[in-house]
Amino acid sequence: MSVHEDTNGPGKPGMTLVMGAGPGGLCSAYALSKAGAPAVVVERAPFVGGLARTIIKETEHGTFRFDIGGHRWFTKSDELNEIFREVVGEELLWVNRISRIYFDGKYVDYPLKISNALKAIGPVTSARAMLDYGKQQADRKINPREVVSMKDAYIDQYGELLYKLFFERYSEKVWGRPCDEMSGDWVNQRTKGMSIMTAVKDAVVPSKGKVVSLIDEFMYPKYGFGRFSERMADGIERMGNEVRLNAGVEKVHREGNRITAVTLATPDGPQRFEAENFISSIPLTVLAKIIEPAAPAEILEAADSLTFRNVITVNLMLKKRQVTDDTWLYVHDRNILFGRFHEPKNWSPAMVPGDEYTSLVIEYFCSFGDHIWSMTEEELVERSVKHLVEDMKFITRDEFLEGFIVRAPRAYPSYVIGYEKPLEMIKEFIDQFENLQIIGRYGTFRYNNSDHSIETGLLAAKNVLGGHFDLDQVNADQEYHEIKRVPAPAGHAATR
Ligand SMILES: Cc1cc2nc3c(=O)[nH]c(=O)nc-3n(C[C@H](O)[C@H](O)[C@H](O)COP(=O)(O)OP(=O)(O)OC[C@H]3O[C@@H](n4cnc5c(N)ncnc54)[C@H](O)[C@@H]3O)c2cc1C
Repeated sequence: MSVHEDTNGPGKPGMTLVMGAGPGGLCSAYALSKAGAPAVVVERAPFVGGLARTIIKETEHGTFRFDIGGHRWFTKSDELNEIFREVVGEELLWVNRISRIYFDGKYVDYPLKISNALKAIGPVTSARAMLDYGKQQADRKINPREVVSMKDAYIDQYGELLYKLFFERYSEKVWGRPCDEMSGDWVNQRTKGMSIMTAVKDAVVPSKGKVVSLIDEFMYPKYGFGRFSERMADGIERMGNEVRLNAGVEKVHREGNRITAVTLATPDGPQRFEAENFISSIPLTVLAKIIEPAAPAEILEAADSLTFRNVITVNLMLKKRQVTDDTWLYVHDRNILFGRFHEPKNWSPAMVPGDEYTSLVIEYFCSFGDHIWSMTEEELVERSVKHLVEDMKFITRDEFLEGFIVRAPRAYPSYVIGYEKPLEMIKEFIDQFENLQIIGRYGTFRYNNSDHSIETGLLAAKNVLGGHFDLDQVNADQEYHEIKRVPAPAGHAATR
């Protein structure tokens, strides 16, 4: 079934309960509200926005705003762009993107541009990298092998040397495991169709159709990405529906092949909520375990076997005009514990109280119970400042004003080799319930950006309204998601 099949709905549906008020869940309720259908979003936290929220910090210097790691809006879909524009309205900004990799004191553009990467590593290493890539491609022709791991997938696209230089160290920081234990799916999903060959071809041979880069500019709300969720929530309530905070889903009750109700944990004690349709954006592994009567033992085991990586952001407020002009800086060095940072002021000046101030959001990737997750706020802030002052020399100690951390559990679904089977089992179990749909990022255990999370939310709402959309087809296209090829206009030569 096509993702974009038309909706031919019958009459108005009954109540839809949406679990989770991140952008995915809110988009479901927003679309239902616009169609005049009843919907309630229940959210465990006292705020909306989930991983895509913006935190406001009032200080004696004024107001600072922080995303959980900078969130930029980009999508290939006109319909989704329209929703984003409509919701964000007059707060919409266009931001130029410059992102770089920092490694061994050098900088390389991100996403990797081959010419620039080769320049950074010098002519001798470049020649070795190209030779290595050629040898590896020839070898693959003679001995075709399946691409299984993340390491295989990177080497397939860039050769061993460039993999070692530009992908291995960062990937191991993000995933906390060697790349040969991670599935190649993540690379295929993130960098579909990109390789040395396509980069070189795109540089010298006019391609069929114009390549529209989605990476040089992006949309961003003036007061942080979280405004998108906040404004959707306002819209839902304005249209007569409800977003209920401090209402965590504790149990999901089933009868035959239908979900009948959920039990919510609220400040006033447990509450039962019955509805006709259910849309879930809460972690898939949690959902599988709170369905009652309980799922079969093998489903519970499957849920236990899937893991996520957590993120801790360290938010630093600085008395300095600017640290770098990057949108993001990816830090590969192994002796620096964090993986990436961004400077919110470079996204919108309204993220800091005045031009004499700036701030940094520093991302640490970790797992429950590991040495990073176990560090205290004080230790993480101090460690970050130390790296920035002593190792990177980006700031001086007296420029640092104050800092705090945000723990974001289950931020990245981990595609550890072998994850497909348990995931498929859980999805099959969930699929049997005709009035339950799963959406979003951790709701589907898929590495979805907010556009894909919103798309699944939107399509789930359309299904409630009578459509027949296959949510599994979202984020399954074959082209690198940061470019868009549009046909060359008739009568014009193909451009590049
Ligand atoms: C560091 C980082 C950077 C990112 N950068 C970008 C970017 O630049 N661009 C982009 O498009 N995307 C980005 N993303 C991805 C984006 O954050 C997600 O795609 C998006 O937030 C997913 O939306 P969602 O609604 O599926 O889930 P979430 O935002 O995770 O929301 C799920 C909600 O469910 C709630 N919940 C959980 N359990 C329960 C329960 N039992 N009962 C009730 N509620 C519950 C949670 O509190 C949460 O509010 C980034 C993510 C991270 C971690």
